[in-house]
Amino acid sequence: MLLLLAGFSLIAAAFIGVRGWRNRYDALGRRRSVPVISVVGLVILALVLAVPTLLRHRLEGRLTRVASVLVGQHASVHCQTFGQTFTDTSGDLGYVKFDADGVPQHHTTIMRGPCGELRRYLDGGFTHPSANEIIAVHVLTHESMHMRGQTNEADAECEAMQRDAETAQLLGATPDEGLRLARAYWLVDYPNMPDNYRTSDCALGGSLDERLPDPPWTTGAYVAVKLPATG
Ligand SMILES: [Zn+2]
Repeated sequence: MLLLLAGFSLIAAAFIGVRGWRNRYDALGRRRSVPVISVVGLVILALVLAVPTLLRHRLEGRLTRVASVLVGQHASVHCQTFGQTFTDTSGDLGYVKFDADGVPQHHTTIMRGPCGELRRYLDGGFTHPSANEIIAVHVLTHESMHMRGQTNEADAECEAMQRDAETAQLLGATPDEGLRLARAYWLVDYPNMPDNYRTSDCALGGSLDERLPDPPWTTGAYVAVKLPATG
């Protein structure tokens, strides 16, 4: 929609500009002013309308590439638009729709807030992610687990936490930065999740421990948090 309006603005700018140039002399040969301000104003308006959409498409492209790796096949990511926020009353950070047979689609919508945090994470470096950026990276992983076929929230959450380090790396973080992000979510955010997102099976050696290379619950993480005062 915004791109369409931007297109109309550019067409209007071109029309006014060409007409003004053709009519730059009146019937008596006197020079008339070309409507430069109108043309420049319309071009600026087109840029203002188009840039946010183009930036969102660029972000969606990057997130889609990451999600596709996590899912194992093409899986698209859409970032909620400003207009879509007015009709959203879910309170979710992201969602994947299921088809009539209960099978998750290979398409997710991530809400405007976490999408903005993902953009900040990508733009601001990966060394010191904010609390919201950590959650946003996890949302991308969590929704990817749904797109992979997982319909249970606690299982999707546990599978995601074991891949958050991978997600961070796919976004550009180093292995160490990715692992620290995954540990931060596991230690700080996971305990505060609703009951249906948590299970005691999701732990080191638990039945949901997939023993992947970069789990969030390495021994080092426990030592770092359980014994902070012992130095
Ligand atoms: Zn979910």
